[in-house]
Amino acid sequence: MSMITDLSSAIADQRIRLIDLTTPLSSETPALVLPEPFENLLDFSLEQISAYNEPGPFWKHHNIRTGEHIGTHLDAPTHWITGRNGKDVSQLELPRLVGPAVVIDAVEQAERDADFLLDIEHVQEWEQEHGELPENGWLLLRTGWEHRSHDRAAFLNADENGPHSPGFTVRCAQWLAEERAISGVGVETVGIDAGMAATMDPPFPVHYHLLGHDKYGVTLLRNLGQLPTTGALVVVSPLPVVGGTGSPARVVALVEAD
Ligand code: MN
Repeated sequence: MSMITDLSSAIADQRIRLIDLTTPLSSETPALVLPEPFENLLDFSLEQISAYNEPGPFWKHHNIRTGEHIGTHLDAPTHWITGRNGKDVSQLELPRLVGPAVVIDAVEQAERDADFLLDIEHVQEWEQEHGELPENGWLLLRTGWEHRSHDRAAFLNADENGPHSPGFTVRCAQWLAEERAISGVGVETVGIDAGMAATMDPPFPVHYHLLGHDKYGVTLLRNLGQLPTTGALVVVSPLPVVGGTGSPARVVALVEAD
């Protein structure tokens, strides 16, 4: 049997399960809020043009309006100043977008400390048990943040000092960018950087280092608890918007049933 036939039948009889890691996209979907004086993107919205009525008697259709970096989305290199000469979202190669996923579980740490930052030593400790982060793979950071997604305020978790949500240290971001052959990182939060990352040096270090090294990020993932620590395959599918710095994406994982 060909590998594709075998894969198709494994999906059909659920020896391989498809897990949707995507947060549904609506005007309520939490989105990053930049502090003054920076300008924010539009939230997602639907604009109805017809609904089986005079403007379109047999059909319903909408315009969609959205920032690029809204909902579950991919950050392409050109999103950041360090990747300004790199690839836009239409230029990403599919073998970089489809690859092995590994999960680092930091749910307990993020519950204790909303500002928890994954550091190099956490990853190295994980690697001692599970092997080096896979080439063209995705490091998915599970923090439990998805459980706040019903409540925008809880999701952004801001106080007078700014938002508080987990992420990566500056040195971990640089190490992942320079020392590991991953395609990128995936997170449950609104951005690939921690809530307090505007105050780091450089600001937003995951953006700075990963996007500057032709690595990518995906955000607002959910259902990471349904993935094994290693052994899943993820398909990250941003729209190939020409010149775009990112795009909402559908992210699906293939997981072998127990
Ligand atoms: Mn983004």
